[in-house]
Amino acid sequence: MRIRHRTRWWATCVGFKYSLLKMSVIACLDLEGVLVPEIWINVARRTGIDELMATTRDVADYSELMRQRLDICEENGLGIGDISDVIAEMRPLEGAEDFLAWLREHSQVVILSDTFYEFAQPLMRQLDFPTLFCHRLEIAGDGRISGFELRMPEQKREAVRAFQRLNFRVVAAGDSYNDVTMLSEADAGILFCPPENVIEEFPQFPVTVDYPGLKAAFEQVL
Ligand SMILES: [Mg+2]
Repeated sequence: MRIRHRTRWWATCVGFKYSLLKMSVIACLDLEGVLVPEIWINVARRTGIDELMATTRDVADYSELMRQRLDICEENGLGIGDISDVIAEMRPLEGAEDFLAWLREHSQVVILSDTFYEFAQPLMRQLDFPTLFCHRLEIAGDGRISGFELRMPEQKREAVRAFQRLNFRVVAAGDSYNDVTMLSEADAGILFCPPENVIEEFPQFPVTVDYPGLKAAFEQVL
């Protein structure tokens, strides 16, 4: 009787320890292209301004891409109100909410994104407000987007390094050039629906093309 009781107690401790181990993992996810559609592509479609179609999939230097976008907005008189109207009608990618809910049960999750808090809020509400690290926009009094302030250079990679220094193991998933340093720095990196050029340039990362595949890739390394 006593032995059986002790066995049960031991099994409970092992289970508890196991769940604690998983809590020492942080899953870092990119936002656009992984959980929600590309914001600027939606703005380009809605406004008919094709030059806004370029994303981090096309231009590797994010600051250069943002300066290009803001110049185009300025030339076409697009302000924060116009872009917010587009974002207000966007929804997460199909299956994203269920995937994120599953992942949050199995590890801690931080979204590492190169978007801006001024854009992200309506989408975060639909994802039940996961932790989000991203950048800030500078908005002029007339609603013009006058500039942007990056949290720091290489925010995604530096966040992964900081988590590792805190003794977390990091598993990261992203879709594009601006995720590559995050994926490289992480203990395990996974590509999700990347473009062909990213797959060819970075063959070291496993490629997933849907949420069941991404879930399976996480299950292997969590
Ligand atoms: Mg992305």
